[in-house]
Amino acid sequence: MTEFELIERYFRRPARNAVLGVGDDAALIAPSPGFEIAASVDMLVEGRHFFPGTDAEALGHKTLAVNLSDLAAMGATPRWALLAFALPSVDEGWLAAFARGFFALADAHGVDLVGGDTTRGPRNLCVTVLGEVPAGRALRRSGARGGDSIWVSGKLGDAALAIAHQSGRIRLEGADLVDCENALARPAPRVALGLGLRGIASAVIDVSDGLVGDLGHVLDASQIGATIDLDLLPRSSALERQLGGAAREIALQCLLAGGDDYELCFAAPRARDAAIVTLGDRLGLPLTRIGIATAQHAGLEVRDATGRPLERLPHAFDHFAP
Ligand code: ADP
Ligand code: MG
Repeated sequence: MTEFELIERYFRRPARNAVLGVGDDAALIAPSPGFEIAASVDMLVEGRHFFPGTDAEALGHKTLAVNLSDLAAMGATPRWALLAFALPSVDEGWLAAFARGFFALADAHGVDLVGGDTTRGPRNLCVTVLGEVPAGRALRRSGARGGDSIWVSGKLGDAALAIAHQSGRIRLEGADLVDCENALARPAPRVALGLGLRGIASAVIDVSDGLVGDLGHVLDASQIGATIDLDLLPRSSALERQLGGAAREIALQCLLAGGDDYELCFAAPRARDAAIVTLGDRLGLPLTRIGIATAQHAGLEVRDATGRPLERLPHAFDHFAP
């Protein structure tokens, strides 16, 4: 199969949102009047972001999901995507499954794949997404103020727990294993939440590298501090079980700094607490108030059950940390 047959068979779909989609030297898109374009790109590298042998359909889902998560964190509506990948060889079963996962999520969000690039090489998947947000209304990391409530969606730490299991550091069984592996393989980008937070949240980030690090980015960008309570952090029964056992330290690391959660962490004035509870109910998505922002730019404090600050916070994942 040639490169062009491959594109034609698996990745060329009629564009619904675009003037011109796959097939020319560039796609043509027409942004809606009065909107700004939110643009983001994320790369998944085999052996680094996913284990060799990872299910292809799940990878198709995840490569797009991690990108939609970035748009969600900006309060943008996803519209277009470009997909660049390197593959070691043409494996039609793999390609069909990957495309199935990718397009199922794209269709669910009304996203058009409008272009990409295809090359031979070590497996590497890179998606660029473009979304729209009414001019001036995007949610940034920089708007939080002292006194704001700090919130997080969903649950934290399950994906990291699955990685800890897969790499042999802990042992999960039964439904706990299934749930955590599902959290790792099929993160749900919180697009509807991001849209609902426009006009409510003062700052938003998606939790891709772990809560401590990502909330830390909001604090730095907003020049504030925050105090959060360990006991309030939303976690699954699987993670709770690990916290209560011999693997407590690992579970704590997963909860606070595990990464791969793709939940939204956000700040909002306390006066909006009730509106946020209503929003969570409307979306059927748990939103948990985990702490409060402090006016001084003094970093993040995580308090234990007795109210004492943890002495050492786990580090966020960093590809280039020494
Ligand atoms: P060029 O050589 O002009 O860069 P290519 O031959 O790489 O173009 O690609 C031909 C067309 O197919 C372009 O419209 C490109 O955007 C699209 N394309 C290539 N790879 C992919 C892919 N993996 N998914 C979607 N579209 C793709
Ligand atoms: Mg060209």
